Amino acid sequence: MPGPALAKPKLTAAVQKQRALVAHVDAVSDRVLAEGKVHIAAGAPSDAEVRKELEAARKHGAKLPTGESVAAFEAAAAQTEEPAPDAVTPIAPWNPREKPIASWIVPVLEWAVEHGWHGAVTSGYRTRYEQAQLNAAGLFSAPAGLSNHETTVYPGGAVDVTDPGLLIQLLKAYNGPRKLIGGVLGAVDPEHFSATGD
Ligand SMILES: [Zn+2]
Repeated sequence: MPGPALAKPKLTAAVQKQRALVAHVDAVSDRVLAEGKVHIAAGAPSDAEVRKELEAARKHGAKLPTGESVAAFEAAAAQTEEPAPDAVTPIAPWNPREKPIASWIVPVLEWAVEHGWHGAVTSGYRTRYEQAQLNAAGLFSAPAGLSNHETTVYPGGAVDVTDPGLLIQLLKAYNGPRKLIGGVLGAVDPEHFSATGD
């Protein structure tokens, strides 16, 4: 539960606007990715860009399927996705979808699990490929790099989780050097946690 509005520091209109945008982008992105609804819209990114990506992937020895259709590219990219620096993929009951997560966040979640949180990560580090798909699908017009899901290096990095209410409560007692904050983005994106909350 977010604290009472009066207890919050006063935010500038710009910060509020930014947070609202982040919340919207994040919520829409995660929903769409979770449902597997993303398709690269015709012409965006340009076919030239897709071909360039394919060429780069081949140069790096990626095994690509025959055909240069968007579907073939999607399948290939899903198999050859490189892990991000400072992202890890914990194999744990709280990460059932084996999401890559900014490594600094992992010990915080492990601590929470030890202290009674039974939720799970639904979204962690969003790969450039996922982000490109979202951008290409024209779901929103936010500039790349806006979401903490796109970064891994502290204070960047974000996770979305189930049972966020209990996690927020438990984390109040966490004494580690790097805090994980939730509940900042409000009702639009209640499950989102990061170093700053947005
Ligand atoms: Zn999020």
